[in-house]
Amino acid sequence: MAGDATKTSILTVDDDPEVSRAIARDLRRRYGSDYRIIRAESGDQALEALRELKLRGDLVALMLADYRMPQMSGIDFLEEAMDLYPAARRVLLTAYADTSAAINAINVVDLDHYLLKPWDPPDEKLYPVLDDLLASWHAIDHRPIPDTKVVGHQWSARSSDVREFLGRNQVPYRWYLSEDAEGQRLLAAAGVDDGRLPVVITLEGEVLIEPSDEQLAAQVGLETTPSKRFYDLVVIGGGPAGLGAALYGASEGLRTILIERTAAGGQAGQSSRIENYLGFPDGVSGAQLTDRARRQAVKFGAELVTAREVVAIEANGSARTIRFTDGETIDAHAIILATGVSYRQLGAPGVGDFTGRGVFYGSAMSEASNAAGHDVYIVGGANSAGQAAVYFSRHAKSVTMLIRGASLTASMSHYLVQQIEGIDNITVRTCTEVVEGSGGDHLESLTLRDNTSGEISVVETQLLFVFIGAVPRTEWLDGVVERDAQGFMIAGPDLPREGDRPVKWTEERAPYHLESSIPGVFVAGDARAESAKRVASAVGEGAMAVMLVHRYLEKR
Ligand SMILES: Cc1cc2nc3c(=O)[nH]c(=O)nc-3n(C[C@H](O)[C@H](O)[C@H](O)COP(=O)(O)OP(=O)(O)OC[C@H]3O[C@@H](n4cnc5c(N)ncnc54)[C@H](O)[C@@H]3O)c2cc1C
Repeated sequence: MAGDATKTSILTVDDDPEVSRAIARDLRRRYGSDYRIIRAESGDQALEALRELKLRGDLVALMLADYRMPQMSGIDFLEEAMDLYPAARRVLLTAYADTSAAINAINVVDLDHYLLKPWDPPDEKLYPVLDDLLASWHAIDHRPIPDTKVVGHQWSARSSDVREFLGRNQVPYRWYLSEDAEGQRLLAAAGVDDGRLPVVITLEGEVLIEPSDEQLAAQVGLETTPSKRFYDLVVIGGGPAGLGAALYGASEGLRTILIERTAAGGQAGQSSRIENYLGFPDGVSGAQLTDRARRQAVKFGAELVTAREVVAIEANGSARTIRFTDGETIDAHAIILATGVSYRQLGAPGVGDFTGRGVFYGSAMSEASNAAGHDVYIVGGANSAGQAAVYFSRHAKSVTMLIRGASLTASMSHYLVQQIEGIDNITVRTCTEVVEGSGGDHLESLTLRDNTSGEISVVETQLLFVFIGAVPRTEWLDGVVERDAQGFMIAGPDLPREGDRPVKWTEERAPYHLESSIPGVFVAGDARAESAKRVASAVGEGAMAVMLVHRYLEKR
């Protein structure tokens, strides 16, 4: 290595001179005797340096780029740098807030690793990673790719679901199209034909063909089985309300389990930027906020089970029983229902045929890499649609928002309306509805109607993201807990009454504030009738429900 290494470079680029100097110093300390350390303070400067190296015939083994740089982001730089040095190992330096962008970048620029700043102590956080990358660079022709791999068809609903499941559960993965050379090679190695996609290859090399969420969860290290038969508290739903309830339940000494059918974080975990949550003046990505909450709940001893759906609850004497899809049950003293809401589907003819094949409900983050260079359409005029438009505008050629109202101001927060007005590639088409979706194996065009003039137009697009409100999917609780006409669960003083008593209520006492029509079963967050539909209120209700669980347990 020594002979080559005198000509081999490691390049680092960071716009913050202090950080730039710090990383160069740490790199020199470990690698200075074997490699030339090159430091740049902008993407352009770094590309210039790479071009010079290329002309001189020098080698570059490793490139470390800061994600947030004003003129050219780290991802853009790495993308351009790949043309010059395709084999050099690529590392993105990110702040914690940008973790999900880094996970997306794994697919966009074939990233080898992302490093969280600060990397102190370098002996633990920096050098081991870089040592491995440099070793793999030297063994270039047979380097292993240490990531979960997903091979699928671009226009397959299940491939899209699998990627979303992994992304939302913070599992880094690489995405290979089945028709590309590398995808074909992996399928051949796995001995699978492309009629049975998606195929997931785990870190250990295990091949999963068309896996269910539960299989996938178990194979990528998520817990899918409760460790006990009996708990003090079962929380159903892992959005902000459920995470809040699990955290307070566990931290206050209750044996607590949280059951989540897809990924902890709920709707909030899909929000690209939450700007109105207390304590985050610069906003926070939903994934970051809810990932922290998940870790905090687990730290306090809450058990978290993912990819399991609860399909029934029953009162059996003082026990409350929870039944899963496969018939398995667990019991508890009390339950908190924090099942939130799910996206409402767009009913226009044809659109339903393309779900996951060009039409997506809320999966803004995981589809971002596919949007590059495309004309993206977004239906909806509320904050969730606005956040998605801003997010996609960074990737897509153009973003068109389709709203039924005459302006965004009635349905969207002022700060978002202002942001959208300031972004050149976002267009808002008011008084407009999607009346049809068409295509072959994927969405190809939309038929739109201008509701003021009645004019019909057809636009070509492969990507439609729908944010038209949400419904609580509580049919499984029909006849079990009181629900309103839309299916939201009714609690406490809002329960329907016969005289001075709630209907079907069995106790002497009145129901507690968030208590459902079954004593000991509480409701928190968006799934509750009359709830505020905000992250902060969901978290608050989760905490408050735990306080009421304590009261319920004391007074039984
Ligand atoms: C894109 C987007 C952006 C948003 N931005 C903001 C914002 O900026 N500010 C703000 O305050 N609010 C925002 N919201 C709203 C906010 O996210 C919600 O109010 C909040 O997430 C509600 O929390 P929750 O825990 O009640 O329900 P949810 O977040 O809906 O979570 C419910 C969870 O329960 C799980 N679940 C449901 N049924 C079952 C079952 N039977 N078994 C197991 N698990 C089940 C679901 O999978 C889900 O994970 C946004 C919402 C979206 C979609």
